[in-house]
Amino acid sequence: NADLAMYRAKQSGRNQAHFFTAAMQEHANQRMTLEQDLRHALERKQLEVYYQPIITGDSGDVKGVEALLRWHHPERGMIPPDQFIPMAEETGLIGSIGEWVLDTACQQIQQLAAAGHELYLSVNVSERQRDLGLDAEAVRAVLEHHNLHPSRLILEITEGLLLQDSEETVTWLQGFKDLGISLAIDDFGTGYSSLSYLKHFPVDSLKIDREFVRDLDSDRYAGSLVTAIISMAASLELRLIAEGVETEKQRLTLVSQGCRYMQGYLFCPPLPVDKLSSWLDNYRPTHCGMEP
Ligand code: C2E
Ligand code: MG
Ligand code: MG
Ligand code: MG
Repeated sequence: NADLAMYRAKQSGRNQAHFFTAAMQEHANQRMTLEQDLRHALERKQLEVYYQPIITGDSGDVKGVEALLRWHHPERGMIPPDQFIPMAEETGLIGSIGEWVLDTACQQIQQLAAAGHELYLSVNVSERQRDLGLDAEAVRAVLEHHNLHPSRLILEITEGLLLQDSEETVTWLQGFKDLGISLAIDDFGTGYSSLSYLKHFPVDSLKIDREFVRDLDSDRYAGSLVTAIISMAASLELRLIAEGVETEKQRLTLVSQGCRYMQGYLFCPPLPVDKLSSWLDNYRPTHCGMEP
């Protein structure tokens, strides 16, 4: 019966529409709740800075750490930054959160130094933070407060920022450089940067995205991409850091191609400061299969 079929189709269409609306509503509600929660996360002390060691791939020496933000949500447990940093950027909360990360990380890097581990500190900075008042003067004040020399700080920015290629961006970045702070391009290779872009910006290092590192074992094409990035970085005299190094094979390939610095689970996951401090106390390069 055609009429009946039509009727059923309409009904189910209606139900589906209803279902989607409810699901979308639910999603929107959840998002709003999470956003509300994020507004209070700082004052409720739910945020914590973790640190992942950055290591020389050949000798295994720990040179620095990258600060990576964590949110301990009272009901949902640990929420990864990929799920709340974009929200913090959209709402502008990244301004106060970013300031807090920088301040906390500078204090804790000095805490590590006092325990005998003098390391450099790498901090992620969102493009949005520029418009929210993060400039050289603000960073200088934080460094001074913690008595941390600017040469011990690296700011990590993503490629997207370079695409704008505006005088404003260059001036903003140059402000940090003039203080003696280093700049790194994060997730390099995932955006649209090219040699010509890089030349316009006062950057010191490139971080090769883990997407490329992951494929080093298996994929020839990705291998050749890494080779291209490494030779390009060399010609521009940029320091190279590979992200997400998980296997000994990846480490060896990167070392043989001339990538000096790396970070990844092969060496150490991101850890809270106390755990990192004891990890550093016990760390010997041979522990991860490397000869000194
Ligand atoms: P990112 O800056 O590229 O950080 C590297 C990410 O790779 C981190 O993810 C780290 O935990 C992860 N990772 C490290 N080693 C390995 C490995 O061997 N295997 C795998 N699979 N992953 C590894 P995480 O901590 O989830 O952070 C994600 C992103 O969130 C960061 O990517 C960064 O863009 C952003 N982020 C984190 N903290 C901050 C912050 O304080 N401020 C801003 N603006 N962004 C932040
Ligand atoms: Mg980073
Ligand atoms: Mg990265
Ligand atoms: Mg990333």
